[in-house]
Amino acid sequence: MKLKNYLPLLLIALCPPFAMCIWYTNFELGGSFARLFSLFATEGLPQTLVKIWKPVFFGTPAAWLIIGIFAAVQLLFIKILPGKTAYGPETINHHIPVYKANGLLAYLLTLGLFLGCSYGLGFFEASVVYNHFGGILGALNLFSLLFCLLLYVKGRLAPSGPDHGSSGNFIFDYFWGLELYPRIAGWDVKQFTNSRFGMMSWPVIVLSFAAKQHELHGISDSMLVSVLLQLAYVTIFFYYETGYFTTMDIQHDRAGFYLCWGCMVWIPSVYTSTAMYLVNYPNQLGWFWAALLLAVGGWCLYMKTNANRQRINVRAANGNYQIWGKPAKYIRAKYTTAQGQEKENILLTSGWWGIASHFHYLGEIVGSLCWSLPGLFRHFMPYFYVVYLTILLCHRAFRDDARCAAKYGPWWEAYRKQVKYKVIPGIF
Ligand code: NDP
Repeated sequence: MKLKNYLPLLLIALCPPFAMCIWYTNFELGGSFARLFSLFATEGLPQTLVKIWKPVFFGTPAAWLIIGIFAAVQLLFIKILPGKTAYGPETINHHIPVYKANGLLAYLLTLGLFLGCSYGLGFFEASVVYNHFGGILGALNLFSLLFCLLLYVKGRLAPSGPDHGSSGNFIFDYFWGLELYPRIAGWDVKQFTNSRFGMMSWPVIVLSFAAKQHELHGISDSMLVSVLLQLAYVTIFFYYETGYFTTMDIQHDRAGFYLCWGCMVWIPSVYTSTAMYLVNYPNQLGWFWAALLLAVGGWCLYMKTNANRQRINVRAANGNYQIWGKPAKYIRAKYTTAQGQEKENILLTSGWWGIASHFHYLGEIVGSLCWSLPGLFRHFMPYFYVVYLTILLCHRAFRDDARCAAKYGPWWEAYRKQVKYKVIPGIF
């Protein structure tokens, strides 16, 4: 059997302990993977993993309380905050997902509540998340693994819409999920797990890490640069949250371990790892390097956002759209739905999408590098996220290319003739 057949099982087995190792390495080993590997070598791999994970395997009461309050607030915000009705793209089975577009308001209120209740009212220390982070990750791991099992059972017994199906293999179905748009008690599961839990936890966690550094050493400009860029990234995400509902995560990837565990554990543990590392390394960059990283990182975030807007806006305007002062160039590509209906979509060949089919992935990667570089060069830890992201996005560029080739056939070939490269013109 080929390796790719074992990949889901391998990822399910390896990723949860790895998330715990990221925490332990930062908290106990000075952020040094070399020290972690030497523990594996001297004490044995299983023994070390048990030593790391066992004390927090079931979480801690404080951790469950923090997660419970956070999740309850987010569920409540989805329901009660005002917002226009937004629609996701129609699926091949003619289902149109419906959302309440109140992401930005929920985001601002979440940060306001966190900072107000800590610094303003003194209900808790702003470093509370850092102080309980091991227990939080232990609890999140356990909860998310069970939650994915619940999604599997739900997908089997009571799927929410027409877009679901089983491969017949339990491991693969658990990993990939059965349903595209599951809903539980009126909540859209992926909106909650990906956006309002995973993405929403990211800014709260890095703010708490910055508060911890402030408590221990005073705040460094390296932490400020890293956290400001990450906050800018998440702010843009929530400003355009409805755009996220048109991405591959939502349109294509089902609600299973890959997506839901990924958003509920991998984002809190890995996406925040640079700031976690910086807590104990208050590097001073000086104004020149700080300003340069902010400027380059800010520009990259602008570029990738602008590319996403070009894709969404040209389709919304049915092609009557100006890009960089000129009428947009595009191909009207036909595709056939599962029911045999013929439909049409616009494939842009100008703007960012004319440079390479996923040029915006470069913006995403370089932007993330700019919030990793403040970690300087003592250890690899601050760069783990950006290396992971590069691998993820390169794989995604291939995955999306294969998906679009299957969907659009000759029109995708015509697009490929005009836009030859996937990410970096002339190279990849
Ligand atoms: P993309 O933004 O790359 O969009 C891909 C989809 O756009 C395709 O599936 C296709 O969908 C449509 N499309 C393809 N080519 C064209 C074209 N030429 N013109 C118009 N539409 C086209 O999707 P992703 O979901 O990969 O990324 C969304 C954002 O999220 C990006 O900014 C990315 O950087 C970011 N991201 C971040 C990650 C992280 O972990 N930090 C992970 C993944 C993504 P259709 O079927 O509608 O034609």
